[in-house]
Amino acid sequence: MLIDAHCHFFTKNVLTQSLSKLENHMERLERMSKPAAKVGSAELVQLGTNTFEFVNKAIQLTPLEMYEEMKKSYGEPFIAVPLMLDLSYAFIAPQDKMIENKKSLIRSMKNIAEKKRNEGVSDWMNNLSLSIEKKLDVYDRSVMLMDVFKNSYEEQINDLTTVKKQYPEYIFPFFSIDPRRDDEFEEGVLGEIKKYIGKDKPFIGLKLYTSLGYSPTHPVLYDNAGKESVYEYCEKHQIPITVHASLEGFSHMLDKNYVEGDVYYASAGRAVPSEDVYEEGIVTYKNNIGRLDFAELTAERLLILNHPFIWKKVLKKYPKLKINMAHFGGSIQISKFLNNNQTGFYSEYIIDLMSEFPNVYTDLSCLYNYENKPDYMVEVYEKLYKPLPEHIKSRVLYGSDYFMISLFNTDLKDYIELFREAFGEEFTRISESNPTKFIFDS
Ligand SMILES: [Zn+2]
Repeated sequence: MLIDAHCHFFTKNVLTQSLSKLENHMERLERMSKPAAKVGSAELVQLGTNTFEFVNKAIQLTPLEMYEEMKKSYGEPFIAVPLMLDLSYAFIAPQDKMIENKKSLIRSMKNIAEKKRNEGVSDWMNNLSLSIEKKLDVYDRSVMLMDVFKNSYEEQINDLTTVKKQYPEYIFPFFSIDPRRDDEFEEGVLGEIKKYIGKDKPFIGLKLYTSLGYSPTHPVLYDNAGKESVYEYCEKHQIPITVHASLEGFSHMLDKNYVEGDVYYASAGRAVPSEDVYEEGIVTYKNNIGRLDFAELTAERLLILNHPFIWKKVLKKYPKLKINMAHFGGSIQISKFLNNNQTGFYSEYIIDLMSEFPNVYTDLSCLYNYENKPDYMVEVYEKLYKPLPEHIKSRVLYGSDYFMISLFNTDLKDYIELFREAFGEEFTRISESNPTKFIFDS
């Protein structure tokens, strides 16, 4: 059976409740975008428009309806692997002198989040237009953006647990948790993982998105001061982990944040402990929200917090870890690979990791047509996939990134059609046998 190894069933529960009233705000959004365009923030307007469409989709469907919608596009029953995303700390600035009293810090963060969440979307929109004119400081803008995606940890667990019960044979969700939340739970982050992930539990794997503000070698994940770490547990039980592996996507938007563990240090071209580069380990970023360049902002954080060399360090310690480097570097990096553009590196480094470590996978989700080429999928097949040695081909996974793919004007039905045509018989391999091994074999 077809397996889509990477999709999302984000519902309105991921978003602030008042976003469900968005339809009434169309006019306002349009008005708002005009002055914004004048101050030269076309990208922000574009982001607003894309986000709006994305939000619109999300607020209309339940997870079960999302599955059904996908099934219509695929034309057959299939296995969906919806990935959760823990946004708890994505937009909250840590205090400069972390972390004498983690618990009170966490409490104060929660209070701010709660307060901001309740302000709702109309405030958010007013704030957005105001902030463009008045150039509010970075922290305020960060909090303002948090009003779109709320801290929905529990809601996502509920959504995905419910849909898993409805279609136990067809839906296999991946759990997600931010390792910085260790003190929030009696049994820590690993306790949450043990509670939710397993063969007889609602979740089958783990999703990590480190550009939300932590390192792949965060102590809770990597080396938990003598206690069992997340990777140790996952390696031992062969729990599959999917990590975002692209320079596009999503990140926190703070101008600085405290990072425990390694960061990528470009001048040395390697992963080094954050305090070796930054005073007290507080990473300071160059591309911040005031510059309104989201692609640069996101790419910088994805590089510093998620470079494949940091993952290599993880894999050296846990060489049997079952890990999917999702997106194969992302569409822009893949197109650099195809064009032999020497500024591309990501896809190549993923291939290196797959060569060196037997349980490293990659997926081809959200593979949109970056250069608007008529035969881009055929080119991906011929130049990226086909030359790979057999043992690496057997770890490439099909995924759609539904419904993120809709941010790139790509219809799911066309998407799978392109794959089926370009990959021919190999499509069964990437969409059935490979994901079966990744998700179900232990
Ligand atoms: Zn995704």
